[in-house]
Amino acid sequence: MKNKLFLVLALTLSTSPLWLVNKAQAQQAFAIAIHGGAGTIDKSKMTQEKRQAYESALKKARDTGYALLADGKSSQAAVIAAIQILEDSPLFNAGKGAVYTFDGEHELDASIMNGKTLNAGAVSGVKTVKSPIALAEAIMEESVHVMLSGEGAEVFANQQGLTLVENSYFNTDARFQSLLKAKKQLAEQEKELKDFQAAHQTLDNEYKFGTVGAVALDKSGTISAGTSTGGMTAKRFGRIGDAPIIGAGTYANNDSCAVSATGHGEYFIRYHVAADICARMQYQGLSLEKSADVVINDVLVKAGGSGGVIAIDTQGNITMPFNSSGMYRASKSSNGNEFVGIFKDDK
Ligand code: ASP
Repeated sequence: MKNKLFLVLALTLSTSPLWLVNKAQAQQAFAIAIHGGAGTIDKSKMTQEKRQAYESALKKARDTGYALLADGKSSQAAVIAAIQILEDSPLFNAGKGAVYTFDGEHELDASIMNGKTLNAGAVSGVKTVKSPIALAEAIMEESVHVMLSGEGAEVFANQQGLTLVENSYFNTDARFQSLLKAKKQLAEQEKELKDFQAAHQTLDNEYKFGTVGAVALDKSGTISAGTSTGGMTAKRFGRIGDAPIIGAGTYANNDSCAVSATGHGEYFIRYHVAADICARMQYQGLSLEKSADVVINDVLVKAGGSGGVIAIDTQGNITMPFNSSGMYRASKSSNGNEFVGIFKDDK
């Protein structure tokens, strides 16, 4: 009798795999984290009004991505949607509101990576593509390449039917004033140091930041990362930063983590920051938090590179370390945790 009962129970369970699948799905965590750049953010100049404007833009981007995840959409879709909101906001150095080059234009960089397929798309130095992150995704999905640059990338964007705009669409007065200030400082330093490159090194961190990015985990357990930026104020000679470089500014791998970086790009390239964080998890068995902390607060600090990252793993853990005075950031998880903040002591 006992054996019969056991058989019936075993048969019932084995013919009801849906029940098990549904339970697994219900338990799958999902989460998103976003950033709007790290840098020298002066607390004394952060009025209540300014803080509110930044925080409400961050929340809007975060909540838009989160709603897609809650709806069962992919982490890639959530990352793109969140970044596009930040690209459209003049507050951040990406899309509208991007910094000016030395010659008074805007040259935009972006990248996206999917942690399940390890597919990636990146674009550098485009001047007329309204949403560089959308172009990065199109390069990943629709081309046989990983990275396109400049005019060729714009031709491809046009072929893909992406929205093209005049370069002046990205103009904002605040960024223009920054360019004028930076150029004045550069001219003074160049006179003294007799070297443009050396003079450029002396530019304050406030000219180097403001990039936007997002990382997300979806209900299927896949993580993705994306980053979009105008780069550095007064950049010259077609300078490309870390944001479009897979492994430096963006990386995602379901075996470890997904990372989007912001900071002094030259250091993030040389120390392949995003991939290094994931490699430390994978090969050293460190937690997400520890891996990111070592790279940002030890390796980069010793090298003199300032900035930060947002990172997520397939369990839905999130960490957002930075070694600068602030980093615009926000996160939301299916476990009920949510955060928006700028400075280190924001809780
Ligand atoms: N990392 C970007 C760059 O170097 C700048 C930033 O994060 O704002 O282009």
